[in-house]
Parts: sequence; structure tokens; C-alpha cells
Amino acid sequence: MAKQIAEMLIESVNMELPDVKTLRYKWPEGYDPGEFKTGQFITVYWPDTTAYKRAYSLSSCALDRGFYEVTVKRDGKMGTRIVDWAKAGDKMFVIPPTGRFLPAFDPPGKHLICVAGGSGVTPFRGFVRDATRRNLDTKITVLYSVRTTADIIFNDEFRQLEKENPHFQFNVTCTRLPETDPWTGRRGRITAEWVKSFIGDLANTVVYACGTTELVESTEHLVLGELKLAKEQMRTEKWG
Ligand SMILES: Cc1cc2nc3c(=O)[nH]c(=O)nc-3n(C[C@H](O)[C@H](O)[C@H](O)COP(=O)(O)OP(=O)(O)OC[C@H]3O[C@@H](n4cnc5c(N)ncnc54)[C@H](O)[C@@H]3O)c2cc1C
Repeated sequence: MAKQIAEMLIESVNMELPDVKTLRYKWPEGYDPGEFKTGQFITVYWPDTTAYKRAYSLSSCALDRGFYEVTVKRDGKMGTRIVDWAKAGDKMFVIPPTGRFLPAFDPPGKHLICVAGGSGVTPFRGFVRDATRRNLDTKITVLYSVRTTADIIFNDEFRQLEKENPHFQFNVTCTRLPETDPWTGRRGRITAEWVKSFIGDLANTVVYACGTTELVESTEHLVLGELKLAKEQMRTEKWG
């Protein structure tokens, strides 16, 4: 069956941070998304500006039925309109999920190292949610670069998932904290050494990178250039 573009009700919104909002789109009666996968993205647009479309990774997962969730940062025209203006009860058009940024859950036994910058963490919420609900023993390590502790999206949720899922670890590094800040976690940019410190079984490691082109390309350089992983062990999603 052809994938259908549908007008969907925004069922609820949640401000994750002052500049980051999660929207939940309710599937309309009779909607059939076809087969879709955790880690894919939907494309959305407003009924009054149908030519202006933007892609957003699902921050929900394929086990979630009846709705899609995306998490958007205030940035540019669509990002600002969504974060500042989208509210429950509004409607937007949604092009069904597509994309190849998929968690390597099959065959089992892989270690997924997920490198994210800023809002690039959104698909990894889907990865971890999916693995946790299915009790998979896939190891997932999120390495998350943010400017300050005030910029960590889904902090409470990831900490909770860490408690529920013994195979999941959430690690944050802050790049722009003042020295006087009491944060005891890691500081500085993501380095090859930091990534390497999480790699145990090299052959079964898959590194994911999601976010700005700069973050993704620098991670590719670290992983392929410095750590010498094979190309097949690296998956990227560039947001431009
Ligand atoms: C597969 C995929 C998944 C994505 N998933 C997410 C996600 O989950 N969450 C998310 O927040 N984003 C995500 N994005 C990014 C998203 O699609 C948009 O690119 C983003 O929201 C900005 O779109 P916009 O229309 O608001 O920006 P635009 O208005 O097109 O602007 C693009 C960029 O240019 C800058 N800009 C705009 N106007 C100016 C100007 N006059 N001067 C200088 N700079 C300017 C903006 O700040 C912005 O950074 C994803 C992108 C892709 C490709």
C-alpha cells in the first residue's frame, strides 16, 4: 500500500527546554503508515505554507502506535514557528517515516555508540526506548555533546532509562561551561580518546552520529580516520 500523507492533529506538546519542544501527532482514523522503523524521520508542513517542508527524526519509536513524536529546536523559520507557536489542537501535514538511520538490533550482540550534538540526540531516544521496551541486550552508549548543562535534552528520561536498562549508558560532555560551574561530569569536545574509551569489542561496534554537518563530519573523521573503524561500522544522519 502506498504511504499516505495525512493531515494530523497535534495531540500534545511538551517543552523539554526553553527552546526545545516535543510534538505528538495523532494518527487519524484509518491511517496506515505502512512499515516504518525506529530511527526514521517524518517530513512535516503547515496547511497554510505547503511548499515549506522540514524533516524531523522520530523521537518516539516504532513500537509506539497511534502517534508520532518529534522534538524540535528553535532554529530558523520552521523551528521557530513550531517551538514558539505550535499548540495542541493545531493540524499539520505529515509525510510518513523514511530513512536509513536505523539501530543495528539484528543480529543481536552489537554495541551501538551514539554520538550526538544538541538536538541530534532525538533519534537516540527512539533507539533506547525501543531496546528497553523489548528487553534487548544490545549495548547502547550515548555520547552527548552540549554547550552547558541547561542544554541537555531528555536528561531525566535518559537517566530513568539507564535505571531500567542495564545495557544503556548516557554520557554527557559540556563544551562551554564556566570554570566555576559545579558540574562534575566531562567537559570539552568529543575526542577520539573519549569514544575509544567506550569501545570494548571493536568488531561488534557500530558508531552512529547525528546532528549538524560539522558534528557528524568531525565524528566521521575521529571514527574512520583516527580509530580506523570500517565504513560499514559508521552510520550518519546530517541535518545541515
Ligand atoms: C533527516 C533529518 C532529521 C532532522 N531531525 C531534526 C530533529 O529531530 N529536530 C530538529 O530540531 N531538527 C531536525 N532536523 C533539522 C530540520 O529539518 C530543520 O533543518 C531545522 O528545523 C531548521 O529548519 P528551518 O526551516 O527552521 O530553518 P531555515 O529557516 O531553513 O534555516 C536553516 C538554518 O539557517 C539559519 N538561518 C536562517 N535564516 C538565517 C539568516 N537570515 N541568517 C543566518 N542564518 C540563518 C537558521 O538558524 C538555521 O540554522 C532534521 C533534518 C534532517 C535532514
